This record gives sequence, structure tokens and C-alpha cells, in this order.
Amino acid sequence: MIIAIDGPAGSGKSTIAREVARRFGFQKLDTGAMYRAVAYTAAARHIDLDDEPAVTDLARHIVITVSAAPEDGQRIAVDGEDVTREIRTPAVDATVSKVSAYPGVRKALLSHQRAAADDHDVVAEGRDIGTVVFPEAQIKVFLTADPRERARRRVAQRHEGEDISADALEDEVQRTLEALERRDELDSSRDVAPLSAAPDAVVIDSTAYTIDEVVQKIACLIDGRR
Ligand code: C5P
Repeated sequence: MIIAIDGPAGSGKSTIAREVARRFGFQKLDTGAMYRAVAYTAAARHIDLDDEPAVTDLARHIVITVSAAPEDGQRIAVDGEDVTREIRTPAVDATVSKVSAYPGVRKALLSHQRAAADDHDVVAEGRDIGTVVFPEAQIKVFLTADPRERARRRVAQRHEGEDISADALEDEVQRTLEALERRDELDSSRDVAPLSAAPDAVVIDSTAYTIDEVVQKIACLIDGRR
């Protein structure tokens, strides 16, 4: 079985996919991490991100491996080097949409993404899972949330357990909101595989729901297909 979860930045896809995977014993496939790995590695190897042929060549030749890790679900390595933390920085947030818009980069990653479902049930999350990667997925979810709420959740997650003033938090929410909206605009307006809901996707607006409530809705969809 393939479950596709698409949606804009910060809509909770990763958290929801992880929980669904855990509950049903599916493999989780985080396709955004692969694009992040390309963006990070290009910068680390001093490749100009505007140089589409060079970035595409890199995407074709690096070996991206994703392995399960008990504490945070997965570890990402490029050519054997662990980049799990490095791919989550604001610098990568700001540049990943440029490399993910290159058709050759998308083509290079597509076969890896499809191969992940060869011998496993998967819950895959990204921007084009239901439309391009697995159009045959039995369940497609398009997960959205109000942009301000997405920014607020991101910031809350980043500072979990820290003691920070309300003003400082508000400033960061505002900056995060602007960055999220910029990325959504780039991801939605590109020519190849833009962020969009598949016609047969169930749209879930999670603004007013908890993680558990969203997982429960998806669990009902899965149970209905079994
Ligand atoms: O999901 P995440 O925020 O980690 O994705 C990072 C970036 O990777 C997105 O902003 C988008 O540019 C790209 N992406 C994509 N197609 C996917 C998944 C992610 O273009 N299926």
C-alpha cells in the first residue's frame, strides 16, 4: 500500500507521516530530505546553485541514503557522510526550492523515490507524491494549515522547552512566516511537478486539529481501504 501526503512547508507532513508509519508499520519516505541533501551538498562543494547542469550532475552522482534512527525517525547521509542536521538549516530552507525546480534534479531523485516502494508499504511525503511520484497511491492526502499557524508551530518546535520572551517569539514567527510563504510560492509556481493537490486527494486543513486528530482521520482512510 502507498500513502501519499503532500502539502506546503510546515503543514506537519513529516510528523503525521512518521506517526502513520509507526502505527501501521509502513516505511516512511521523506522526499523533501532528498532535495535538501542536494541543496546542502551543492553549497558544501562550492557548486553555484544557479549552474543548473552542475547541480543536476551532482544530483545524478551522489548517493543519498536514508536509514531509520530510533530517536528522530531517520538519518540522511550523502556519500556516506551524515547530513541529518545540516539539511535543516535556514540556509538550506532558503535555497532548496531553486534546486528542486531543476527538471534533471527531479528526474535523478524520482527513481530512488519509486524504488523505496518496491518491497515495502510506504507513507511518502512531499510536494508531488500524489501527482507525479506515486499517482497510483491508494490514499492521497493534501495537508494544509493556515500559514501563520504553520509558522507558529515551526517556531514552537524549534524552541521546545526553552524560556523565550513573547516578543522574541513573535519576531521569529513573522520571519518564519515570510520564509515559508516565499518557499510555497516558488514550489507552487515551478514548471515541473509543482506543489498541488492531486484531483483524488483528500484535503485536510489541520489548522484546528491536533496531530492525533489528523492521524486518526488518515487511519480511518487506511482502514476503509483494507
Ligand atoms: O518537505 P520539506 O520542507 O523538507 O521540502 C524541502 C523542499 O524540497 C521543498 O520546499 C521543495 O522545494 C522540495 N520538494 C519538492 N518535491 C517534493 C518534496 C520536496 O520539490 N516531493
